[in-house]
Amino acid sequence: MRSWSIHAGRIFGIDLRIHISFLFLLAFVWMTDSAGLGTEAIGRGVAFTFLVLASVLLHEIGHRLAGMRQNRHARPVLLMPIGGVRIQEEPDREMPDPRAELGVAIAGPLINIFLAFVAAAILIGISPESSLVQRPLVFAGNLPRSFVWVNVFLAAINFLPAYPLDGGRVVRAILARRMDPVRATRRAVSIGQGFALAFILLGVWNTWLMMIGFFLFLAAQLEDRHAVFHAVLSQVRLEDVMLTDFSTLSPADTLEDALHKAVHTLQDDFPVVRGSDMVGVVSRQRIVDALRASGNGYVQSVMNRVFSAAQSGDSLASAFRKLTSHGVTLLPVVNSGRLVGIITLQNLMHSMSLLAEAKRLRNENGQSSP
Ligand SMILES: [Zn+2]
Repeated sequence: MRSWSIHAGRIFGIDLRIHISFLFLLAFVWMTDSAGLGTEAIGRGVAFTFLVLASVLLHEIGHRLAGMRQNRHARPVLLMPIGGVRIQEEPDREMPDPRAELGVAIAGPLINIFLAFVAAAILIGISPESSLVQRPLVFAGNLPRSFVWVNVFLAAINFLPAYPLDGGRVVRAILARRMDPVRATRRAVSIGQGFALAFILLGVWNTWLMMIGFFLFLAAQLEDRHAVFHAVLSQVRLEDVMLTDFSTLSPADTLEDALHKAVHTLQDDFPVVRGSDMVGVVSRQRIVDALRASGNGYVQSVMNRVFSAAQSGDSLASAFRKLTSHGVTLLPVVNSGRLVGIITLQNLMHSMSLLAEAKRLRNENGQSSP
């Protein structure tokens, strides 16, 4: 998903990414509005796209300011022409309270309504004869009027209960009171997809509606893939995927011994164990580097003493978080203080695919047996 967007900076502590769909918007505006504009069409199309981007950006700042008051964790935001989609890097363990979600959700559309009013007032103030309701309402040939209506429509679309847009987020929070967060998200996504389809069908009446439906469909799709990914991550326990057959080192091992051991295993990282206590973590690379730099020594002088451990009943989602956030490569899994397994990023990918295969075989056998 990352590859379909570009990083656009950080504002109020949120990472912003611009989704490729803004290019679709630009192409669409060029196609629909070029007839009446001649050579001006190219520049005006670009300017129009920037107006939409600016409106969506201000909308997101509205959410952020409301969220900051509630001390909410700031997720990276993917800017799309119909609003921002908050990127879920980890599953929601706890769904926000619907009322709190509503407070944050409503701030975005309110900014757009405010912008529309201010822009309309300025427009009428400057030239009282300018007609705000002249058709087409949104048209690259009239950028000030388009700005007013783009903001009106942004607010309107985001009031719909179409996940992952704002109204849909509130609906999801309400659903999550009756079911687990992953199911609530999937339910909300399918409602969002329903709206997307309706908009696309309404496209026979107005092509803008089709475009909105298309963007909404893309946004819902992004969320759906995340929801499925997180559903898997949160259901699998570490004991299902951890490596139980692994080598350990002792802090009193010499580096040469350690390297010798490392030759006979596929492991890249080793837990360092004294008796039954886990005391550190060291990588094969670290051993090689230390040997090269200062000759033979002991494992305890090069091992990393700061490491985080996981419990065998923890979900894969939490292990994934630990592995990716602290830049650690090995996660020891302990059960009542005893080291029972290890998780490495390398083994995780491998065991996930094995697990999926096993599940598939089980399903096939289940179906074929009478
Ligand atoms: Zn929003």
